[in-house]
Amino acid sequence: MEKSIHTVLKSVLLLSTCLLVFVAIIFNPFGRTSFQSFQAFSYLTKMQGFGPRIPGSTAHENAQNYIINTLRQNGWTVELQSGQMSGLPYHNILAWKGKKQISILLGSHYDSRMKADHDKDEDFQDFPVPGSNDGGSSTAVLLELSRILPEKSTKNIGFVFFDLEDQGDLNGYEWILGSREFIKNNRFRPEKMILLDMVGGYNQTIQPPSNSDEEIYESIFNSAKNLGYENFFLTQGTGGILDDHVPFLDAGIPSVDLIDIIDPGWHTAHDDLENVNLISLQRIGDTLYDWLLCQ
Ligand SMILES: [Zn+2]
Repeated sequence: MEKSIHTVLKSVLLLSTCLLVFVAIIFNPFGRTSFQSFQAFSYLTKMQGFGPRIPGSTAHENAQNYIINTLRQNGWTVELQSGQMSGLPYHNILAWKGKKQISILLGSHYDSRMKADHDKDEDFQDFPVPGSNDGGSSTAVLLELSRILPEKSTKNIGFVFFDLEDQGDLNGYEWILGSREFIKNNRFRPEKMILLDMVGGYNQTIQPPSNSDEEIYESIFNSAKNLGYENFFLTQGTGGILDDHVPFLDAGIPSVDLIDIIDPGWHTAHDDLENVNLISLQRIGDTLYDWLLCQ
């Protein structure tokens, strides 16, 4: 008898959970646009399930294939650009829809750092960084945008997923190797480049560094403001940051780095799924969706 009550309770609980998820997906109670943070988080969960995306590892290859397959399922043409830098293999992923006429390029790195050298616990410092917020959150947001952007607004948009961003200062590697190679190997010049990095943390405050294009940020900030998110988008910082937008700036392409650098999990072994907040994903996703529709 006790057992059957237990079974009934379990079924009721399961049913109500399913119902809640269903209602959440259909009505998207957190969101202010078609962007579904639940779906973005599901992309992220899948990627994190492969393990840390260390260049050259099987987990990295699985994540790379997952990004490619998801983009294709969402109707995008995908090009894999591969090579070697400092003895490490790299694979940048570029995607567009219809004719290749990318004027707005949205980017994120997807590799994760080989060593958690910022972990407070020395025992963890040789562990790889899971990269849930750092590399994962921005990738998941772009994948969700690739799913929901209406056909008419996709014709000038491209997505790029950079490799080898995050190995700097380890074994003599430099930072942002993948995006530097991308600029070297691609002739097309987008009008604007928008980089996302570490966008899914708790206590989210997006603050582009001083080396970001002010005009582009102002228009993105206006979208955030329209949606009531202005308190989460700060005025540009006073210091510069070396990130994947820098090779674009160096090439004369206006670029902005949408980054939240205050993350206690940054470059630690604890940058796992628990380090990413659905509501933060929703805010950045809504803002970019709104902004892209105005372009
Ligand atoms: Zn990093």
